Amino acid sequence: MHFINRILLLFVFSFWLVSCSTSSKVPLTNDELSSKLKTHILTLASDEFEGREAGTEGEKKASDYISKEFKKIGLSKKGTDGYLQEFSFTEGAKLGSSNQLIVNVKRYSLNNDFYPLPYSSNGIITGYVVRVGHGIVDEQLKRNDYLGTGNINKKIFVIESGTPDGNNPHGKFGEWTDLRKKIDVAIAKGALAVIFINSDSTQENPKADWNFRISPSTIPVLFAKGEAAKVLKDSIVTNCTLGTEIEKVEKKGHNVIGYVDNGAAHTIVIGAHYDHLGYGDEGSLYRGEKAIHNGADDNASGTGALIELARYVKASGMKNNNYLFMAFSGEEKGLLGSNYFVKHPTIDLKSVSYMLNMDMVGRLKPDEKILIINGSGTTPRWKGLLDSVTVDNIKLKETESGVGPSDHTSFYLQDIPVLHFFSGTHPDYHKPSDDEDKINYPGAVSITNIIKNILQKTDSPDKLVFSKTNDSNNEDAPKFKVTLGVVPDYAFEGEGMRIDGVTDDRPAAKAGLEPGDVVIQLGEHKVLDMMSYMKALSKFSKGETTKVKVIRNHQEIEKDITF
Ligand SMILES: [Zn+2]
Repeated sequence: MHFINRILLLFVFSFWLVSCSTSSKVPLTNDELSSKLKTHILTLASDEFEGREAGTEGEKKASDYISKEFKKIGLSKKGTDGYLQEFSFTEGAKLGSSNQLIVNVKRYSLNNDFYPLPYSSNGIITGYVVRVGHGIVDEQLKRNDYLGTGNINKKIFVIESGTPDGNNPHGKFGEWTDLRKKIDVAIAKGALAVIFINSDSTQENPKADWNFRISPSTIPVLFAKGEAAKVLKDSIVTNCTLGTEIEKVEKKGHNVIGYVDNGAAHTIVIGAHYDHLGYGDEGSLYRGEKAIHNGADDNASGTGALIELARYVKASGMKNNNYLFMAFSGEEKGLLGSNYFVKHPTIDLKSVSYMLNMDMVGRLKPDEKILIINGSGTTPRWKGLLDSVTVDNIKLKETESGVGPSDHTSFYLQDIPVLHFFSGTHPDYHKPSDDEDKINYPGAVSITNIIKNILQKTDSPDKLVFSKTNDSNNEDAPKFKVTLGVVPDYAFEGEGMRIDGVTDDRPAAKAGLEPGDVVIQLGEHKVLDMMSYMKALSKFSKGETTKVKVIRNHQEIEKDITF
């Protein structure tokens, strides 16, 4: 290559080198930031990504996109497989081939004539049928539907799924709207299996809702309708065979984790969930035709801000901390991804100074300009710091509690100071109409700049001090008369309700319950899963005292608890 050419080439190459280094060091202008955010949100909230439901192809496309962006920015990989950290969860069920119902040699068809219920265990049973009315045995109500049924041990019980007063949960038979209660009585009376029927057309048939984590009973349980139900109710049944085969479907979710390793003692975690509702099977507030829930604000906006904060930090020269950037999956299904991470961390959680969570930062109301910041009580450092943040006349509305309906809760429960940034709810929340064209980009830019400001102000090697907050109005079941004052572990698959967090001065704390305890009974009510826990809670009133049974280190412990 000619000498002159060589000099020229060298000159061009060194110019390119400098321009790269200097241009990446210069933070983006607000316009550049806005267009970057628009690219991320347009992509993540496009129909092609199908609403990014955890465990679906849409989630995969999104995690690929985020990984590519992390790579472009130069983040190092901090997942268990590159940037990815896989976790599994069960959702839905597949019905196997041995689901069957044969009555008096007539075979009925699955779904048309019968279907297994979520309370069912798997099994094939042949036996005689007995009818036990509504299957209610209740001293207080002076009612026993088993009276006069004779020897019913080791038979198949046919039970009405409703109640005599129209399945009203607040009515006289309220307790008996819970099918599990009827199943438990039937098991106690020797049932081999239970077939529910519903003779009252004003009452709804039991749903085969496989998304609700219900722990199965010990016998097959199915619902029969139409002609099958009629025969079981009215005809002489000489023989019956039923089979239930339910396979829980295991799905995989993927957190995407990038890292800026400055070799520092402490790490700052910056996170946002990138999953959303897919076609809205679960968690949608939309009642129309099945449709893609694009989730532009929830939470493509936070994910976009996450990527741009990674770009900013990488170029910023802030070296007093390491930075972990996390795009969580499974948030919409119960904080599954963040909950999994804190229990399977890829860095030492003790080294985490604090965690910032962006969930819905794309719909700041232009006239009000109020940014909600939750968690301001989780370290003494936040108060003064947040007061000093002034960006674009945005008003900061703080709430103290570290517990809330997003991923920062998982970190708060590990005694890590947190902040959750939230631009407020809107009519498109959890609907297909949460689209990109409604995003307030100047607002999202301001919020991202506020977070940059907070990162600058905490650019010191000191680890923030954690403080527990009063979480009373943020925990488990706000709608109920009473609560225990705990944060449930929504990822728990075992029997009972596992406690992830205990709030000070609330019934559970006063009774001496601890994180990790699994509640298995409340008063006389067995707690087998989230559903039966909520049902048990609704039975108690303020000031009432009862016994709570928990499993702690494989030991059963009983405590007095006062609501
Ligand atoms: Zn969200």
